[in-house]
Amino acid sequence: MRIYADNAATTKMSKAVIDIMAECMGETYGNPSSLHSSGQRAAEVLAGARESVALTLGAEPKEITFTSGGSEADNQAIRSAAGWGKKVGKRHLISTAFEHHAVLHTLGKLEEEGFEVTLLPVHEDGIVRVEDVRAALREDTALVSVMFANNEIGTVQPIKEIGALCRENGVIFHTDAVQAAGHIRIDVKEMQIDMLSLSAHKFHGPKGVGALYVRKGVPLFAFIEGGAQERGRRAGTENVPGIVGMARALELAAANLEENGTYEGALRDALIEGLAKIPHSRLNGDREKRLPGNVNFCFEGIEGESLLLLLDAKGIEASSGSACTSGSLDPSHVLLAIGLPHEAAHGSLRLTLSSENTMEEVEYMVEEIAGVVEYLRGISPVWEELEKGERRHVIQ
Ligand SMILES: *Cc1c(COP(=O)(O)O)cnc(C)c1O
Repeated sequence: MRIYADNAATTKMSKAVIDIMAECMGETYGNPSSLHSSGQRAAEVLAGARESVALTLGAEPKEITFTSGGSEADNQAIRSAAGWGKKVGKRHLISTAFEHHAVLHTLGKLEEEGFEVTLLPVHEDGIVRVEDVRAALREDTALVSVMFANNEIGTVQPIKEIGALCRENGVIFHTDAVQAAGHIRIDVKEMQIDMLSLSAHKFHGPKGVGALYVRKGVPLFAFIEGGAQERGRRAGTENVPGIVGMARALELAAANLEENGTYEGALRDALIEGLAKIPHSRLNGDREKRLPGNVNFCFEGIEGESLLLLLDAKGIEASSGSACTSGSLDPSHVLLAIGLPHEAAHGSLRLTLSSENTMEEVEYMVEEIAGVVEYLRGISPVWEELEKGERRHVIQ
């Protein structure tokens, strides 16, 4: 059995998406900027995709800029808001300690360039408090950037409340919705979002394509200079097949949002229930306010890396922390942000499900994970010390 349970890292493209992309690559090869018929056909297809993406977010087509993915959208949104801030004398930026590195590293660079950055703490339940955002706001705050849902622990943030607060105070509000888009309902107008990033490969679309929503009236500066594509805000010949694939993937996700959410939620709950029976384990992130497909556990005394390798040998593909940080031995910045001690933050397991997973797979995973955890603890000197009482448990 091979079980893919790493859908927060990327998803398998759906057949309908592959089909429409293949058709587009074969037939709609024109450059949308060309004036001849082939070019105009490509321009029409592009316009259709833009309308469709806008519609699912509750936005206007003009408010959607296509990018090369989530990282680029995050970079452009934050740099653009900072650029506006600099112009009007606002050099303070607010975000949170558990953002994706596309946000955190961009803020780090801006700090070197003279901006002041406040990273809000995240509470133990993995939720950012609106009151903390309010308390951090200053006269010179240009931007608040809070992710819609966290990519490691799946917790969903009070976006609508933060949106209202920012609108009230004339501060640009950006949200990295890469994990949320296509998985939970988003309405940029109702939630008073000014900028939103999404990425196609996180909802069964192609890799290397994403979108940035920017509310009409909010300034957006060009990030890549060159031609006049994307109304001068993102130069370069558009990735027409990728964009068409993304639009189709988002349409499908939106049409099946409730059904998939209910189905994945049931799988997630069974998986959590099963894994919680392993002694000295803990679920990371709030039990209720989390993405329907996200499960994240710590098992005391276990190294995430060894767990992943043994699980892969059993046919289970999962992740420890996020794909961007695994491979390094640093503990997850997300788990540290919610207050886990270092020794526990090393031993996390993230299982992220899609509607292609089954209850049978969940049962298999619970059984195999329990077995592998027991095996690894059996050969661990640290676990022996814990068992003998020479060391105190950090997870009860
Ligand atoms: C995957 C991810 C990104 C990066 O998106 P890419 O399209 O891979 O560049 C950014 N933010 C979050 C929350 C993500 O999960």
